[in-house]
Amino acid sequence: MSLKGKVALVTGSTSGIGLGIARALGEAGADLVLNGFGDPAQIEALRSGLAKELGIRVHYSGADMSKPAEIAGMVAQATEALGAVDILVNNAGIQFVANIEDFPDDKWDSIIAINLSAVFHATKAAIPGMKKKGWGRIINIASAHGLVASAQKVAYVAAKHAVVGMTKVAAIELANHGVTANAICPGWVLTPLVERQLEARAQQERISVDEAKRRFLSEKQPMTQFSSPADIGALAVFLSSDAAKTITGAPVSVDGGWVAG
Ligand code: NAD
Repeated sequence: MSLKGKVALVTGSTSGIGLGIARALGEAGADLVLNGFGDPAQIEALRSGLAKELGIRVHYSGADMSKPAEIAGMVAQATEALGAVDILVNNAGIQFVANIEDFPDDKWDSIIAINLSAVFHATKAAIPGMKKKGWGRIINIASAHGLVASAQKVAYVAAKHAVVGMTKVAAIELANHGVTANAICPGWVLTPLVERQLEARAQQERISVDEAKRRFLSEKQPMTQFSSPADIGALAVFLSSDAAKTITGAPVSVDGGWVAG
């Protein structure tokens, strides 16, 4: 499946799932715009390393997904530098875990801003260019928590359910413009975001990180293994391909059976 000639912008791609998706799209030939936080020297090494290894153009935007003006600026700069944003992957996300009555207001605000509002702002900015070309792919990284809930994740679950809803609206509005919009709904993927939750649980319950992993998986997923960022990347490549041209508005689960029950 060749994505040569396409430009893919992946938010939150300096780590975890976003990096797995960016690498997979780059391996399929797409030019890339990376985004996310991290050590500037490491990000530059990542950017230039991917460009050299894959023989593609790779740009980086440090835009903060909690800031609407920076999101619009990122899409405009990407279009100016690389000619288009053909594939938009809204992936950046954060997590915070507490019961509703203890959930800090500022954590609610930042999760809603980064996990939900950023998806709206980036999609809004990218749609005119996609419509003009008559081709586009919007891939929103939701979660199993976009379909079902867990305790202590009120902002995350609310944001991810809303992302699934927003994906459906985009699919309907863009149905006859050559642009599809889909949501990938992963279960547990072993990334820094989950490693932080594993360490917190291991400490809280005085168990090893391996035991915390076992408990996390067995509580939620019939299949007791993690998905990998590369697995999610492979699906993003498929959703970007012509074979997926009529798949739109779909929440696609990659979750070891989490939401099957
Ligand atoms: P991660 O912590 O490894 O990576 C998050 C990325 O987002 C990083 O590149 C980080 O720099 C970036 N980011 C965070 N805040 C940002 C901001 N304000 N502006 C720009 N970039 C920002 O996390 P991950 O596990 O790879 O998660 C990626 C996405 O996948 C998230 O939307 C998450 O909700 C979703 N997801 C993860 C899992 C899982 O099990 N790991 C499961 C389902 C869904």
